[in-house]
Order: sequence, then C-alpha cells, then structure tokens
Amino acid sequence: MTDVKHMKWWGWGNEGTAFHHEDKPGFAPFVVDAVGLDLRTATKATEPDFAELDVPKSIATATFTKSLAAIVGADNVSTDDMVRVIHTYGKSLRDLVRIRNNWIERSPDVVVYPADEAEVLAVVQAAVKANAVIIPFGGGSNIAGSLEPLPTEKRTVVSLDLGRLRLVTSIDEESGLAVIQAGAQGPDLEEQLNAKGWTIGHFPDSFTHSTVGGWVATRSSGMQSDKYGDIADIARGLRVARPDGMLVLRPLPSTSSGPSVREMILGSEGRLGVITEVTVQVHRVPAQRDVYAYFFPNWEAGIAAMQAISESDAAPSITRISDGRETGFSLATSKDRKGLDKFMAGTALPKIMEMKWGKDLSNICLSFIGYEGTKAHADHQRKLVEKIIRDHDGITFVGTGPGILYDQKKFDTPYLRDFLLDMGAAGDVSETAAPWSKINQVHDAAYAAAQGAYDEIGIKGWIMSHMSHSYHSGACLYFTFAFVFKNDPIAEYNIVKNAIQQSFVDNGATISHHHGVGVEHSPWLEDDISTEGVVVMNALFTGADPGQNFNPGKVTAAVGMEKSAGAAGRLGGTKNTSPTPVAKKAPVAKKAPVKKAPAATK
Ligand SMILES: Cc1cc2nc3c(=O)[nH]c(=O)nc-3n(C[C@H](O)[C@H](O)[C@H](O)COP(=O)(O)OP(=O)(O)OC[C@H]3O[C@@H](n4cnc5c(N)ncnc54)[C@H](O)[C@@H]3O)c2cc1C
Repeated sequence: MTDVKHMKWWGWGNEGTAFHHEDKPGFAPFVVDAVGLDLRTATKATEPDFAELDVPKSIATATFTKSLAAIVGADNVSTDDMVRVIHTYGKSLRDLVRIRNNWIERSPDVVVYPADEAEVLAVVQAAVKANAVIIPFGGGSNIAGSLEPLPTEKRTVVSLDLGRLRLVTSIDEESGLAVIQAGAQGPDLEEQLNAKGWTIGHFPDSFTHSTVGGWVATRSSGMQSDKYGDIADIARGLRVARPDGMLVLRPLPSTSSGPSVREMILGSEGRLGVITEVTVQVHRVPAQRDVYAYFFPNWEAGIAAMQAISESDAAPSITRISDGRETGFSLATSKDRKGLDKFMAGTALPKIMEMKWGKDLSNICLSFIGYEGTKAHADHQRKLVEKIIRDHDGITFVGTGPGILYDQKKFDTPYLRDFLLDMGAAGDVSETAAPWSKINQVHDAAYAAAQGAYDEIGIKGWIMSHMSHSYHSGACLYFTFAFVFKNDPIAEYNIVKNAIQQSFVDNGATISHHHGVGVEHSPWLEDDISTEGVVVMNALFTGADPGQNFNPGKVTAAVGMEKSAGAAGRLGGTKNTSPTPVAKKAPVAKKAPVKKAPAATK
C-alpha cells in the first residue's frame, strides 16, 4: 500500500487533533452571543462512522485497473472505498456536511499514485486512451468544489494523487530558483528548502495539508504575500503532463512570448493537464522575522493606514487588520491570561485606549504587520510603518506577544469548523479582492448581504472580516460567517454564501482572491470576467482538451453539461437560490444533524 498520508475522511487535518475551547474562557460566551449556541448544554455529535456511508460502486474495469498497475505497480492503484471517499471532495463546508451526511453521488472509481513524472505522463496517456476522466489530487484542501467528479459522469474517473512526488529536486542558488515536485506539501518542501538556507515564503493557512501543484492549480496566496507575492508570482517554471507529452515552461524572470501559457496553467484546476513540477523563486531564510500587533480605534482608520502603508516606501511582509467583530473573536479565543487577553485584561492597555479613543472600545481593530529580512531592514520597515500607524490614530506599543501567538495558532484554526459542525453549526469563509476605493463599500455590502440571508432563513447569524494581502491598487477582504443550522444545512448555507458572493460582484470585487473557482464560484464567473471572457476561457479548455478528460466542469461548466447539477446548480451554484431543499438525498432527513450534528442548543 502507498505511504501517502491523507487528512481525516470526514474533516480537516490529522486524526486525533481537534479544536478545544476549555482553555479559552471567553469562547463559550462569545458563541452564545454571536449565534445563540450554548456550548454548555449543546450535544456534541459523535464521530461519523465510515461503515454507514453508501459509497458508489467503482465502475473501473479490471482491464483498465491492470493497465494502471502496469505503470505504477499494483500497490499504487486502489479501488478501496475509503481511499475513493478520501479523494471525492475537498474541505469546503459543503464538502464536510455532505460527507457527514452520507451524500456521495459520484466518487472516483480508481485512485492512482504515480512515483515520478514519467509515470504521471503514462497514466495520463492510458486514461485518455481509455476515455477516462482524470482529476489531479494534491492535498485535497480546496474549498471551492474543485475535486468532485460530476455526478452525471458515466466514464471511469481516475483520481491521480501526486502525493509520492514530494522532493525539492534542485536549487539554482545563483538565481534563487528551486525545482519542486508537484505533490510536495508545505512542510515537506519548506523543510527541504530550509535545510539549505532557503524559504519559499508561501504560507497559506492550509500550508500543512496542501501541495505546490495545488497552489498553482488554484492560484493560491499565502499570508506573507506582501513580501513574497502570490503563487502566481512565485511559480516561474512549470511542467505539465498532457496526452501528447510534456508542456514545458522554463523558469524565466519575465517574457513577452505572447499570451502567457504560464498564466493559463495558473488557476486551471486540473483542466489543462497534470502539473508534475514547479520551479519557484525562493529567498534566503530571513535573519529576522517579527509580527507586531497594533490597534486602531475603528475599521476606517485601520484601512486608511493599510492603504497608506501600501503606497509608502515601507515593504512589510504581512499587512492584516481585523474589523471590530473579528477583533472581538480574537480576544475571545485567546488562551486564559495569555496573549491578547493578557494585554486587554492584565495591562493598562484598555485604560490607555479609553483615554485616547473614549469609553466605547467596541470598534477597536487589531492589526498584525510582519517584517522580515536583515535586522537593519526589518527595523527600518517597522519605523516607517509605525509612523503611518500613529498618523492614523493607531497604538504602536503592543509589541510581538500577540503576533507570536497568532503565528503559533494559525494552523490550528481550521479545526474550528469541525467543532462547530459537531455542535450543529456552520462556520465558513468567503474572500475577495477589490480596489482601495471600494474596500469599505464591499465590506459593508457583504455584512448587509449576510444579515439579509440570516433574516430570510430566520436565524441569528454572525459575520466578521479582516483585510490582508495588500497590493498597490487594493487588497483582499476575508469574511468568516457562522450560524446554527435550522432545517436544511446545505440550503441554508447556500443562501448565506450566495448572498455574500453576489454582494462581491455587485460592488466591484472579484469572486475569489485565492480560493479559485471550482463549482462553487463558477456561477459568478461571467459577472467577474464578462461573457466574452468566459467564451475565451471555454475555448481554451475545449481546445486543449477536446475529449473533456481533464477534471470537466470546474472553473467553467463542461460543454454539454452546463445544466448538470455538479457543474453549477444543485450544490449552490444557482444565484439567489430559495431555501427550498434541492437535494435528492437531503442530508438532514437522512442522517446527520439528527444523529451527528444535532440542533444542539438545548
Ligand atoms: C482551512 C483552510 C484554509 C485555507 N487557507 C488558504 C489560504 O490561506 N490561502 C489559499 O490560497 N488557500 C487556502 N485554502 C484553500 C486551499 O488550501 C488551496 O486552494 C490550495 O491551493 C489547494 O491545494 P491542494 O494541494 O490541497 O489541492 P487540491 O485540493 O488537491 O486540488 C485543488 C484543485 O487543483 C487541482 N490540482 C491539484 N494538484 C494538481 C496538479 N498537480 N496538477 C493539476 N491540477 C492539480 C485539483 O484537480 C483541483 O481542481 C484553505 C483551505 C482550507 C480548508
């Protein structure tokens, strides 16, 4: 059996790791206040039981499976139910609800783990020859519905797992370019780079369970993008396995050789072939890396400061500011008498804030700014930034304590979603990017849209936001929303998520800054890039893959399958959906919220 490790089949991350709130005294009161869920009395669902799943039968023929085994070895081909289920979905809230509720209409029929590029190419060629569908699988962490086979798919579906390709194969030290196999996950590649004194500088919150190939295929962005760039900047060279051979893009600093094929592969979500290798620009591990915390009296002052920083000579590695609500959440999830809580409760900070900003501190905003490089460089950047912060009425003496804690717990936060689902509640995200001139408008519109959706369902819901990833002309806004399910988790989730997404395009923002399109965001693609933009994109996909063998239905609907449920509508693609349950296999009725995720408040 292959040694490739996967996340839990029903949730985020490693077996045995979970979110706990017992050491965070402010958390339970915060949750009651935000969504009306009382954690003291709520019933926690038991862990889902794999034996209860109805896994669709594999339709892979013995002949086809043998042909794959001839390429990669019998140990690296699997039609096992658990393995196929693990490769069915990513980790969006919808994915987690569906998997907990025995809602699997179509799974890959066979999972294959090639060892190297030659084997990937041979698998691609064998699969296309057999007119099978190929879905490349990295870490399985996407949250846009980028992996699931179309429910209407009649052909054999192959999940091509890159997990055995995880080496940094070479580093051009003179140019700062590292060649990395596509299946390398964040910790794999960063350890190998660090051992030689280098870093990729790409740290998405999913870093621990996502791959460099997946980052490229979804146009990912990491929290230090202000310094290192998004993956679209970092990835310079690419190798992609296609039916007629390897597509090879050499790592060039820049080129004017026509429309960028590199940019076409970026964000293609497996529709143009299988990325086998990425050459990334790397940097020397910085001598100094600090994350400082700052406070602002309100969101408008904080955003104005972030914009001023982006326009200034300062070059921080992280610029991030939470709005008042997210600041409240951060304070509530602090461990007892440590970090932020200590600053707020155990020091004179609130008194100083009151003297500076008045008694009402409910709108204060917490900001984290990162500085990296030589000590002299980092210190100089900090001086430039702190002057701007003071000019915008901010407080600059909080120091690095909260930043250290933020750094430590950032990879634990994803476990919170599973905890909330266990309690019968949704917690999920929507993110976007907009020009500076529209940032406040987009922020307020998303809040209003979420509230409208909660009113429509008739529930008390929560939304909070932060700005991160600054650019010269704008920034990313990231929204987290939560609510207790009322009747139908998927239908209710659709109402909230759709309302927020719609508010983005209605207010001049994009459908996604870094989560990609998949099937979840594709209904808004036309609003985002225009009808003619979609025509060009479809021409690219159908021209490069006339048989629609590569992950059909992602980003744009598969031709001839536009109305297919998986491509857009049933799982939330339809804009302005009504709360009418749309599921053939309605999750609530069947299993979970009753057994696994009870309404939980009483
Ligand atoms: C809790 C959480 C936090 C997250 N935080 C961030 C964040 O901070 N920043 C961010 O950018 N994203 C974030 N994400 C989203 C997700 O991690 C990214 O989309 C990531 O880039 C997906 O990588 P993966 O290796 O897991 O790809 P997968 O989920 O396995 O695949 C995603 C898509 O890429 C395709 N693909 C994967 N590998 C290849 C390949 N080798 N060749 C061709 N196509 C391929 C797949 O077919 C699929 O369409 C987060 C997700 C979660 C659940």
